[in-house]
Amino acid sequence: IELDVVQFAKQLVEELNLNPDKPRINLRVCGEIDQATLDPKLLVHILTNLLSNALKYSPAGGTVNFTVSGEGERLILSVEDSGIGIPESDLIHLFESFQRASNVGSLPGTGLGLAIAKKCVDRHNGTITVSSTVGVGTTFTVTLPLHSPVASSLPVIESSLP
Ligand code: ATP
Ligand code: MG
Repeated sequence: IELDVVQFAKQLVEELNLNPDKPRINLRVCGEIDQATLDPKLLVHILTNLLSNALKYSPAGGTVNFTVSGEGERLILSVEDSGIGIPESDLIHLFESFQRASNVGSLPGTGLGLAIAKKCVDRHNGTITVSSTVGVGTTFTVTLPLHSPVASSLPVIESSLP
C-alpha cells in the first residue's frame, strides 16, 4: 500500500501530544521522503509501541525526539527519549515476549510491545536497534526499505502471541 509516511507520522504525534501529563513529542523530518510502499497497520504498531514507550518511561518534563528521515531507498525512524534508560544486561532479551527491564518499578506493562514491533519490522525486511544509558535515556532506531513487498499484517500479530 502506498503511504505518505510524513503525514502519517504527523497525525500520530498530534494524537499522542494531546496528553498534557506526558512529554511532548518533537517531530523532525529530514531528507526526501516521497510515497512509501509499507503496510500502514504494521507501521502503526511499530511507531505507537516506540512512542508510547518513550512517553511511559520518561518523567513528565522529559524530551522525546522523533526523527523520520529518508536516505535513498531507506526510511529511518528514530525515537530518542530522556527517560529512565535500560540496564545493559536487559538489552539482549528486550525484543522477546514478556521481557521487561529490571528498572521498570511500578510502571505498568506486559512486555509485548517491542516483540510485536520487532515482528512488524522483520516483516518489512527492516532492522531495529536500541542504545540506552540508565538515567540518561534511550534511542530506538528502525530502518525500513521504502518500498517493501509486505504481506498482510494479521499473521504477525497472531504469531507474536504465546
Ligand atoms: P507493553 O506490552 O504494554 O508495551 P512494556 O512497555 O513493558 O509493555 P515493551 O514495550 O515490549 O513492554 O518493552 C519491553 C521493556 O523494555 C519494558 O518493560 C521496559 O523495561 C523497556 N523499555 C522499552 N522502551 C523503553 C524506553 N523508551 N525507556 C526505558 N525502558 C524501555
Ligand atoms: Mg511498551
